Amino acid sequence: SFNPEDYKSLVQGLPDGRLTYGLLTRAFVLINSTRSRIKIVDTLTNFLRTAITCDPASLLPAVWLTTNDIGPPHEQTELGIGGSVISKALIKVGGLDQKGLRTLYNKYGDAGDAAFEAKVRQRTLQLRKPVPLTVKDVYSSLVKISESKGAGSQEVKQRIVERLLVQSRGEEVRYLARTLVQHLRIGAVKTTMLIALSRAFLMTHPPNALEPAPNPTSTLSKLSKEAKTEVFSAAEEIVKACFARCPNYNEIVPGLLTAGLSGLKEVCKLTVHTPLKPMLGSITRDLPEMLGRLGSREFTAEYKYDGQRAQIHCDEKGKVSIFSRHLENMTAKYPDLVALIPSIRGPNVTTFIMEGEVVAINSDTGDLKTFQTLASRGRKDVTIGTVQVNVCMFAFDLMQLNGEELLGKPFRERRKLLREEFVEVEKRFTWVKSLDATADDQDAVIEFFKGSLKEKCEGVMVKLLDNEVPAEDNGALETDATDLDTLVEEVQKKPSSKGKGVIKGKETKKGGKRKPLLATYEPDKRLESWLKVKKDYDASTDTLDVIPIAGWHGMGRKSKWWSPILLAVRNPDTGSLEAVCKCMSGFTDVFYQEMKEKYSEDGENTTRTKKPYIEAPELHPNVWFEPQEVWEIVFADITLSPNYTSAIGLVSEERGLSLRFPRFLRKREDKSIEEASTSEDLAEMYRNQMSGGKPATGAGGDD
Ligand code: ATP
Repeated sequence: SFNPEDYKSLVQGLPDGRLTYGLLTRAFVLINSTRSRIKIVDTLTNFLRTAITCDPASLLPAVWLTTNDIGPPHEQTELGIGGSVISKALIKVGGLDQKGLRTLYNKYGDAGDAAFEAKVRQRTLQLRKPVPLTVKDVYSSLVKISESKGAGSQEVKQRIVERLLVQSRGEEVRYLARTLVQHLRIGAVKTTMLIALSRAFLMTHPPNALEPAPNPTSTLSKLSKEAKTEVFSAAEEIVKACFARCPNYNEIVPGLLTAGLSGLKEVCKLTVHTPLKPMLGSITRDLPEMLGRLGSREFTAEYKYDGQRAQIHCDEKGKVSIFSRHLENMTAKYPDLVALIPSIRGPNVTTFIMEGEVVAINSDTGDLKTFQTLASRGRKDVTIGTVQVNVCMFAFDLMQLNGEELLGKPFRERRKLLREEFVEVEKRFTWVKSLDATADDQDAVIEFFKGSLKEKCEGVMVKLLDNEVPAEDNGALETDATDLDTLVEEVQKKPSSKGKGVIKGKETKKGGKRKPLLATYEPDKRLESWLKVKKDYDASTDTLDVIPIAGWHGMGRKSKWWSPILLAVRNPDTGSLEAVCKCMSGFTDVFYQEMKEKYSEDGENTTRTKKPYIEAPELHPNVWFEPQEVWEIVFADITLSPNYTSAIGLVSEERGLSLRFPRFLRKREDKSIEEASTSEDLAEMYRNQMSGGKPATGAGGDD
């Protein structure tokens, strides 16, 4: 694996000690050559450590290049280079003609591989050794590309791309081209970045940090393996929790560099106009299961409206931003909502961050309309005068008020502030309809659920109102140690933990103790304190969000299309996609045709060989798809499988899980592959199925 010392000597070879792009691509090559999650995390961690030690100013650019973005989603920073700019540059730099490039492209099906090959052929013609590219240089060039707009911008972009390609050598060419087409193809890195950052900062002290320098590596080396794992996971929690509140590396990385792990929480606070990651609801099968899961605790059931989730931010000056579930800025889509804000803001309100569901509505009758109606509303250049589809905002949470962060307050308090400090506007802004209850009020809850369906809602969201234990005892981030020495001390002081993943009342999955339920707002978490009960959830219609990863040539009528199609769930621990079943039902002919065009043989979205991060033992489809979309499927039940290895080790050591009678329902355009169902989701569904008394259908059912 990578040794930071190696890097040091390599970096020091450069005149001003800057991190080269060559080192970054070396890390990419290593990451790409392994399936082992441990090796991926190690490689990335060591690379980041090198940046922290040798060239901290390059750390942020390196993080962006590795995650293949140039900014957070809400800043809408897009590269915006069309395929033709890259092709033209490759033709020029690689000394090819259009036909030659096409041949290479058809051979490899990947812009990076084609560029690499073109440049290798050209190498002999290159007389002068180019100046090595640095990480900072590549990143700032990409930023320049994205900022260049209007007349003449194509030429500017073209020149930058050409210069980068001329300067790049060997593997740099491959990864540069992939970066430019925004398809880096190094699998698990997006989800691994936060883990790697937490470890890198745990083990490496930034040279300019404000805190005194301990010797982390020697402190860590004194710990047992179990204790070290606990310290790592505590550090990971800190970085992940801060990123969930402030999902922007432009804040997190400088925060880590100046304040270290211990001060990160202080510098990365909830900020107006920076969206936080939303809290998510856990799936329940039906109302009885939901009631059982909440036991005797008091909860509120709310209508689950069928619209679009919206996070509204407003500052002292009245400037408003609206963000989607996926943190995209959609302020321009809802000028009517923006105009409404002064009327809903009560007299005591200065700043706020609130959340709710925007729903299409008939503004005469107040009747709610479907999600499809809302989806037909324009996205860009909408003005109040051109709004075709009227909307009403149904507010359900308040995360910040007058500069005070409310995430740590129980839901009952947040809701009280929401309802007291804001003002309803008929048919345009109101609260979600709700019913406070306990499991004893079963009949009332059933009636409420039926009422939600009558009003075209999808079911109910059930939320815990109060913390089960006082917040200060619950191990939330506030009370956790945030520096290495205290973390280590806590782990060592805790005789009961013995490496079982328990730190200060907080449990990881390995912990045996039941975790107390909290009614706090937990960004990016899917907890038991928010449960969704949808109308179509019953034993026969569990759904999964899976990723199509491969296809076979169809037979008979379907011979011109791909059928069956291989589907996968994602394993966030290993970063791999695990094949779960073949699917050949629920598709229309038009859909088959579209699939064949999108994943055409030898096209850019297919390959002949399986990617290292795909787990599909003993399966030999005709083509492998470039994983890029999410499909919702239904199925009869989940079976233990001798053939598939998805979720192996989670319910059985020898067998994986597969689905019987999978049927395609719809594309989930709103989900990226990082949001597809996980092997743990699948295992959880299997456990629920088994506890519901449904027999497991032994082996088979795989096809
Ligand atoms: P998730 O958002 O949980 O990943 P998903 O995209 O499949 O899953 P759903 O299962 O439909 O979405 O449920 C969650 C969504 O329900 C929320 O993101 C939100 O947009 C919507 N919603 C509607 N009413 C409410 C409510 N009262 N409280 C919370 N969310 C609500």
